[in-house]
Amino acid sequence: MEFDVIVIGAGPAGSAAALTAAKGGAKVLLLEKGPEPGSKNVSGAMIRTEEIAKVFDTSSMPFERKVKNVDLIFMDSTGKVRISVDISSGLINVGRLKLDKWMAQQAEKAGAVLVTKTTALGVEKDGEKYKVVTDRGSISGSKVVLAEGVNALISMGMKIRPDLEPEHSVQAVKEVYNLNKDEINKRLGFKSDEEGSSWRIFGTNPVPYAGFLYTYKDAIAIGVGIPMSILIKKKISPYTVLDELKERLGINELVKGGSLREYSAKVIPEQGFPSYRACSGKIYLAGDSIGLINALTFNGIGPAVISGSIAGKAALEGYECFKYEEELMKDKEIKGVVKARPLIQELTKEENLNYYVNFLGDALHSWAYGSLSLNLDMPRLIKHLMLGMGVLKA
Ligand SMILES: Cc1cc2nc3c(=O)[nH]c(=O)nc-3n(C[C@H](O)[C@H](O)[C@H](O)COP(=O)(O)OP(=O)(O)OC[C@H]3O[C@@H](n4cnc5c(N)ncnc54)[C@H](O)[C@@H]3O)c2cc1C
Repeated sequence: MEFDVIVIGAGPAGSAAALTAAKGGAKVLLLEKGPEPGSKNVSGAMIRTEEIAKVFDTSSMPFERKVKNVDLIFMDSTGKVRISVDISSGLINVGRLKLDKWMAQQAEKAGAVLVTKTTALGVEKDGEKYKVVTDRGSISGSKVVLAEGVNALISMGMKIRPDLEPEHSVQAVKEVYNLNKDEINKRLGFKSDEEGSSWRIFGTNPVPYAGFLYTYKDAIAIGVGIPMSILIKKKISPYTVLDELKERLGINELVKGGSLREYSAKVIPEQGFPSYRACSGKIYLAGDSIGLINALTFNGIGPAVISGSIAGKAALEGYECFKYEEELMKDKEIKGVVKARPLIQELTKEENLNYYVNFLGDALHSWAYGSLSLNLDMPRLIKHLMLGMGVLKA
């Protein structure tokens, strides 16, 4: 059997690519190594419905809770500062198993053929076409979309993109605790089963890190991400950092009586397109496989969906590489990811993470005590401001 487009990976990027190509009339195969889409995924997650709605019909999108507040928490060695941002609409907490399954179903409804429990092992040129070699045999296609996520073994094996270096990656670990929904509502002060919350946590002890908390209907997810280079330098395990965060934030009390349902780890890429190529011949890369994640806003699913859809269109129309990369760069979200990268690389350095968490903690504490004192490091602040505005390159 032959396909016009073979998509490798049924995550948000892959399903968006398959949906777009199938809607355009292509014969599409969507390959997933997990027993079902989402079964291999680790992310939180909080998503912005507006971004997903650019590609998927979100009227039936499964969600866990609607985010009513995003809390920013800064914890330095002496105390913590919490800022709560009220949210009126548009942000939701989702479980990846349900979300990824739903996205793949939309691709199937548009005509794509989803095959699970199948791992793509490589892609070989076969005349004008491509042969995708899997653990269950080979299949031929005219175009290929590689949406294999951060562990982009095929793209790296084919030398389309380089390996991810420790200084360009963050190690994330996450735990999910089952807890009765009434208990979640009571403990977090929600007025209904639909209300939810997202926390963004920045801390310095035992090493600088960024953490998160998301609420599901009947579970709480808590996790932490630490720059890989810091973990290597300090020889510390990410779980030690997560345990410290849980202790200091009272998470153990929050999930008391609950049971641990999931314990997982994954890498978050902080480098990628356009430093990496996003294409080779008629093979198009999308999502985490080319590092399209905005660590400033904790947003990877939105850029994955958008880049996946652009890859699906590229495969449908057989774009040349320059045209695909041009289309990616034209998109506002993708441009935002690329623009944020130099600043993210600076902010994830140990000395800078330490400085900002301490700076905000000290400034707000001293303000609360009525004696505002600011530890202003003007050269650092100006440099980061200019990086953020894109005036300065890293
Ligand atoms: C702890 C954590 C928390 C996060 N929280 C958020 C959040 O709150 N909001 C947000 O927007 N983003 C979040 N992210 C980022 C987000 O998860 C990713 O950016 C997003 O999942 C990228 O989508 P993708 O489709 O590119 O890759 P993935 O979601 O990784 O999907 C890749 C798919 O390809 C399959 N696959 C891989 N290789 C093969 C192969 N050879 N053959 C067949 N199938 C294959 C995998 O099984 C998987 O299903 C978080 C990430 C982590 C690690």
